[in-house]
Amino acid sequence: MKPALDHIFIDPHVKGTSLVRRILQKNPRVPATIITDKEKFLKEAREIPLGQGKRNLWLTEFKGPLLKPCPATGEDYLCCRYQTINTQTNCPLDCSYCILQHFLNFPMLTVYVNANNVLKEIDALIASEPKRLFRMGTGELTDSLALDPLTRINETLIRHALKRKYILEIKTKTNLVTHLPEISRRNILVSWSLNPDQTIREEEHKAAPLEARLRAAKTALKKGYRLGFHFDPLLLFKGWEKAYGGLIHKLTKEIPEKEVMWISLGSLRYPSELKRILDERFPRSKIGAAEFLKGLDGKMRYFRPERTKLYAKIYGMLRKHWKDVFIYFCMENRTIWNDIMGFSPRDNAELDRLFQESIEKRFPEINKP
Ligand code: SF4
Repeated sequence: MKPALDHIFIDPHVKGTSLVRRILQKNPRVPATIITDKEKFLKEAREIPLGQGKRNLWLTEFKGPLLKPCPATGEDYLCCRYQTINTQTNCPLDCSYCILQHFLNFPMLTVYVNANNVLKEIDALIASEPKRLFRMGTGELTDSLALDPLTRINETLIRHALKRKYILEIKTKTNLVTHLPEISRRNILVSWSLNPDQTIREEEHKAAPLEARLRAAKTALKKGYRLGFHFDPLLLFKGWEKAYGGLIHKLTKEIPEKEVMWISLGSLRYPSELKRILDERFPRSKIGAAEFLKGLDGKMRYFRPERTKLYAKIYGMLRKHWKDVFIYFCMENRTIWNDIMGFSPRDNAELDRLFQESIEKRFPEINKP
């Protein structure tokens, strides 16, 4: 499933780099233009529709930091202190609920050709807290693998992580794993966001079907990667209990728990401005039909009793099969933690520590590069 590109635009500062040459070689039939007036190009490109932006690739460099802490949204919702590696922005897949539609102010697929600069940033961060087991990932502002067969940026990160003490997560809704290198150290995981097939068909456009994601997970496992799964966004719809039940049954039957590093649960949340985009771009989506309440961080969420019911069911079904895997909530409040898990981390730092304790207990070899 190679992304369909209409055009490649190249920042003159990066035109001679090996990554640009490689992308052009891999797309000999896609027209490419070296931009002479960058300001004019960026101004005009900002105005194109999102759907069109997802078929156009902008190759440039990023002068600021490429490694950033996950943008937590205030004290009320616990964040796990994840670090995001932002070497690309935007995504060729097209999920109706994707917050990047609102969050990014540039609609084109963008690859920062100076991605290697992030390696020094990672080293500096690790050196700043040598006892902490950092978790980092490439899937915050894009799907980690949707463009990767073209860019191979993850391979550089993987080879770096193999020699360091940190956990690297490659997060995707694709099945594009065959190009990933085989590895012998187990501090890298490929993780999949999961939803029932009906939701994938209706809301996760251009993403791989569930069966293909699980097959890809098994391939990644054979190549030496550990796995992660994200039930995020969890959605409420008619028949959700049965649909998620079937999904969890399939997952726990096909994947060995001992290879799964973590599972996140996060019900749908979005900035209120996304609703307009959702209605405009995906008029057949069923997502907006539910009732939502604005949370203390300004994001729309299902009402708390609904979320509690949803989480209790999913958590209970997972725990019925998998007793040890680390399960956490992404951006949820303490009441939800207490109601479902019977405790809540004191703060973000404690949640981060719980991750580290679980990883070091379940995978004791992880700290030996
Ligand atoms: S895969 Fe992720 S980044 Fe891509 S469109 Fe879907 S939600 Fe957005």
